[in-house]
Amino acid sequence: MLITNGQGKVKLNNGYEIPYLGLGVFKMNNGSEVLDSVKFALDSGYRHIDTAALYGNEIGVGKAIRQSGIKREEIFITSKVWNSEQGYERTLMAFEKSMEKVELDYLDLYLVHWPVKVKYKETWKALEYLYNKGKAKSIGVSNFMKHHLEDLESDANILPMINQMEFHPYLIQQDLLDYCNSKRIQYQAWSPLMQGAILSDKTLIEIAKKYGKTVAQIILRWDLQKGVVTIPKSSNKNRIIENINIFDFELTENDISHIDRLDKNQRIGADPNNFNF
Ligand code: NDP
Repeated sequence: MLITNGQGKVKLNNGYEIPYLGLGVFKMNNGSEVLDSVKFALDSGYRHIDTAALYGNEIGVGKAIRQSGIKREEIFITSKVWNSEQGYERTLMAFEKSMEKVELDYLDLYLVHWPVKVKYKETWKALEYLYNKGKAKSIGVSNFMKHHLEDLESDANILPMINQMEFHPYLIQQDLLDYCNSKRIQYQAWSPLMQGAILSDKTLIEIAKKYGKTVAQIILRWDLQKGVVTIPKSSNKNRIIENINIFDFELTENDISHIDRLDKNQRIGADPNNFNF
């Protein structure tokens, strides 16, 4: 991944480009919180917003985009089909509902949110349909382990362009990351800051001091240098800026390995092999 600035992009396996830094909006309310955060992020140089039907704030995201004055084609917008809406017909309906809420003509990326057993292959067929119709410029999955991806591939006509996974220094899943890279499925980090739980790690604090950066900035830069697209969430103006201010330094290979060694296979979210929602 060639890292340039906050609007830099990486090419997906279909040639479509995704900005490698985005704003996550999980848990933001659909009112002023999401509206102000998305508008502020766009003003600050972000060009990628990650929402989902589950988050209940697609209306606010759409409104912020329209009010930003930035051209639609310059902004990358992701949404996701929720578990209870999976299956072929229901996914198509869920997509239409999301489109009514964001009030846009197309999405840049539509994801299968979780690998709901029995259903996800049918869901994927619906995503292939939406992709072929141009309604979603790229399609992908989230929370798919290697066996889910292999199973999907055995029937799919189109390989996912993205796999969005929990990813931070305490949960690297290097085998899965390598597998996705080998298939040109772009890896994307959710909860890159482990929802704040990793920010007091002593090793990360030491490394941050050395670079004159914050722990959050070190982690987000590490994501990019590992070739992983990242979508930190913040509804705080200073932290929205802090999280995009990661293009004036570079981690050494040594520090990257140092951070890699913090891995302890520890999750903050659900285990994709064992979830009950
Ligand atoms: P993050 O790891 O992005 O952490 C967000 C938390 O960290 C918030 O409490 C935020 O608080 C705080 N924070 C943000 N920046 C900083 C900073 N620089 N310094 C200190 N604290 C900071 O968690 P998320 O779970 O939100 O993950 C990011 C995005 O990933 C989501 O918003 C969502 O879009 C996506 N996601 C996808 C999932 C999936 O299943 N596909 C699951 C979970 C998330 P504050 O807002 O006050 O700054």
